[in-house]
Amino acid sequence: MGNNHHIYNKLISITSEENVMVDELLRNHMYTRLGGKADFFVTPSSIEEVQQIVKLANNEQVPFTLLGNGSNLIVRDGGIRGIVLSPKRFTAIKREGNSLIAESGARIIDVSRRALQENLTGLEFACGIPGTVGGALYMNAGAYGGEVKDVLRHTIVVDRNGELLQLVAEDLDLDYRTSNIPDKGYIVLEAHFDLQPGNYHEIKDVMDDLTYKRESKQPLEYPSCGSVFKRPPGYFAGKLIQDSNLQGKGVGDAEVSTKHAGFIINKGNATASDYIAVIEMVQKTVKEKFGVDLEREVRIIGEDVSD
Ligand SMILES: Cc1cc2nc3c(=O)[nH]c(=O)nc-3n(C[C@H](O)[C@H](O)[C@H](O)COP(=O)(O)OP(=O)(O)OC[C@H]3O[C@@H](n4cnc5c(N)ncnc54)[C@H](O)[C@@H]3O)c2cc1C
Repeated sequence: MGNNHHIYNKLISITSEENVMVDELLRNHMYTRLGGKADFFVTPSSIEEVQQIVKLANNEQVPFTLLGNGSNLIVRDGGIRGIVLSPKRFTAIKREGNSLIAESGARIIDVSRRALQENLTGLEFACGIPGTVGGALYMNAGAYGGEVKDVLRHTIVVDRNGELLQLVAEDLDLDYRTSNIPDKGYIVLEAHFDLQPGNYHEIKDVMDDLTYKRESKQPLEYPSCGSVFKRPPGYFAGKLIQDSNLQGKGVGDAEVSTKHAGFIINKGNATASDYIAVIEMVQKTVKEKFGVDLEREVRIIGEDVSD
């Protein structure tokens, strides 16, 4: 507790008091609506503040966690110790030539919509992905044949020593729903997307079509973390789950969606442990029935309540 007070004072000497929340309930910041409290939930206002917070975490050996929109992340019910940093104040998107430059806390959906307004093509695939720009780079987010790798030119990051770096897309080893961002510990601050001039109506038609496909197939009326599992080689995760008769089965308010078997929804008051129990039940059943190991796409972090 004493040390937490010391860390709090250091944090408010770096950024303003309103940017540092203590014992903040993370489910309020997660698309999944799951997760316990963070010791410190910090929303810095400038790049310099991010750098100083990273250095503070290093010097004081305080655990440090980065959150985007929480749409691919489950935080356990015991929450996260130390500093949780959210780039939610970094939301600017601007045009430079045929590129869009977006800050990491901007929603990738909004970058895609801005591309439409600017008659730029290339980001249509992202029009329904509910993550931030930072989360989209981390995951090499993609849909309907497009992915971040196709359009990212370079990015500005802070490394785990607090140094500012400019990297080209190739430096991130982007591959199917992965990058080297977790290994390197980069904090993405800004991304430059290279787009092409296009026709407003053609771009809009593609986005409308993808939105229709998503709305008709995905349970968007409930919080979730999207497709929970990666596509196993030679199979479709959703089909395996469907064929295992798991749709509608759940624990507490966490349930395998009846609309899309690859989604686990939070029907209202699910806890993270309910949600994780459903993930494990699905993995166990599919393994027993089909001998296939379903690998999670979604990350699970934080502590259990009893820890
Ligand atoms: C309804 C629904 C539909 C979805 N559809 C798709 C889809 O079609 N395609 C797809 O790829 N994904 C999809 N997703 C998953 C998810 O939206 C993406 O993976 C998204 O990129 C995650 O971004 P986020 O900001 O929510 O990241 P979070 O879930 O907050 O974090 C994910 C990881 O990224 C890291 N991270 C976040 N911000 C940064 C940053 N600034 N710098 C470095 N690391 C960072 C976090 O530390 C964490 O480890 C869907 C999810 C939902 C709920």
